[in-house]
Amino acid sequence: MAKKTVKSTMLRGMTQDGSARILVINSREIVNKMAAKHKTSPTATAALGRTLTAASMIGTMLPENGDTVTIGINGDGEAGKIIAVGDYFGNVKGYIQNPLVNPPKKPNGKLDVGAAVGGGTLYMIKDMGKGEPQTGTIELVSGEIAEDIATYFAKSEQVPTVLSLGVLVETDYTCRAAGGVLIQLMPFPDDKTVDLIERNAAELVNISRYFEKGMSNAEIADIALRDIPYDVFDTLEVEYKCNCSRARMKKKVMSLGKSEVAKLLDEQEAEGKARELTAVCRFCSTDYTFTETELLGK
Ligand code: ZN
Repeated sequence: MAKKTVKSTMLRGMTQDGSARILVINSREIVNKMAAKHKTSPTATAALGRTLTAASMIGTMLPENGDTVTIGINGDGEAGKIIAVGDYFGNVKGYIQNPLVNPPKKPNGKLDVGAAVGGGTLYMIKDMGKGEPQTGTIELVSGEIAEDIATYFAKSEQVPTVLSLGVLVETDYTCRAAGGVLIQLMPFPDDKTVDLIERNAAELVNISRYFEKGMSNAEIADIALRDIPYDVFDTLEVEYKCNCSRARMKKKVMSLGKSEVAKLLDEQEAEGKARELTAVCRFCSTDYTFTETELLGK
């Protein structure tokens, strides 16, 4: 029987005056799949979950099929490096260097993502297939992810952006609710619409609570764009998906160079193991084992 995959959903729309576009995603399934693959602590689930939620929405704003966006966070906190990659369809994969990071909660009971991430930088790489990828880096503002990514858009792309991300984790470490809202101004927006978006943004601070209550993406879009006429373009199904394969992984192993591969095989043998190498995909934890024959043709 085929395994049933449950997907996350995203709504995309635009204000009728063309001032802003909006994306709303319920990313619970994405976060759950990530947490199961990486066995993350609650704080790591929130940190990587928020980054994946953003990468999914930003991915769908890429111009063409095949384009990807990578969000990288290099903080000096215990979480270590965080990477999320989104594609044109909004599918994502991600990685956190220390999935066990779990600092004490904040006084208000929330997971302290900022403490786990620490200070440092955030970069974004938009790879559009041809030409040089578009990249930029900013200093982290709070390490809470949403504020950092919104600041990236403002500083690096000069696009005013409202971004709210939220992840709630159950006591059994599964994801109870997760989602996000992204609103970006288009060139020459209407001043009145901008004022209304800013006013409404105050109600998006606790976004995960809306998803926890079971509100739909459309209901949340109505809050984000209250008093602003808008149209929904489409709704998408998105998921946590890794595109690794045996062939790609072999290429990666071989990029070490034949002599290094031979050395590693020797080391395996010295430890009393078979002359083969195992490489683990850092995005989905799938392991691929290659024999010496496969690698060096012997
Ligand atoms: Zn993989």
